[in-house]
Amino acid sequence: MRFDVVTIFPAMFGPVFRQGVVGRAIERGVIQLEAHDLRDHTHDRHRQVDDMPFGGGPGMVMKPEPVIEAVESLREANRGPVILLEPWGERLDQELATELSQEPGLIIVCGRYEGIDDRVRTALQAREISIGDYVLSGGEIPAMVLIDAVARLVPGVVGDPGSLAQDTFADDKTGWPQFTRPAEYRGMKVPDVLLSGDHARINQWRLQQAQWRRQQAAQRKGFTRKTKELEGKR
Ligand code: SAM
Repeated sequence: MRFDVVTIFPAMFGPVFRQGVVGRAIERGVIQLEAHDLRDHTHDRHRQVDDMPFGGGPGMVMKPEPVIEAVESLREANRGPVILLEPWGERLDQELATELSQEPGLIIVCGRYEGIDDRVRTALQAREISIGDYVLSGGEIPAMVLIDAVARLVPGVVGDPGSLAQDTFADDKTGWPQFTRPAEYRGMKVPDVLLSGDHARINQWRLQQAQWRRQQAAQRKGFTRKTKELEGKR
């Protein structure tokens, strides 16, 4: 799978994706990742990528031409969908990450300033994705989140596929509590069952714990929804 990122800060991606599981997958050629400088697709002396908003208002807007031309220049190498990172987009979750991991590639556009000229979305038939209901100052960190979540689902990226199967959100499971040595630290003991060597009991304990965590998570989500409902009534 191939990830092409269009950004005004391509240097941000190298340090993050030289490390860890995804970094090793890039090194081994299981996935490819390239960050492209949007300014290389400008045609003026100042390499300007933004301009004032029509209709007035604060801030600047990303111009359509450099973004569209940057994406078009990648089309030959990358046949995957175009993604615009925007806070109002479709919410990224494990299901969406799994869907995107089936694609041959992704072309990801990182916004800055007040956002991207809306004609980019139309012209590129782009899918808008958000990583959560909060506003960051640019699309680069969201792009990294998206790439990491999708890349680890590409076969061969995570060394032991068993670890994906036991991840939180795989099936209807939630990850269970994990422990490693020492068996006791500052009076805190690892549950006896994990030291018992009895795999049937260990599995049963893990499933119970996972279920408990799932219930906790559902309550928290319910709380958020309830708060929103109440706000709606105000
Ligand atoms: N004025 C815009 C608004 O309220 O929607 C905010 C633009 S934000 C300062 C600049 C860029 O950061 C966006 O175009 C987008 O690419 C990125 N961004 C910010 N928050 C994001 C989020 N939650 N998910 C995805 N991208 C985000």
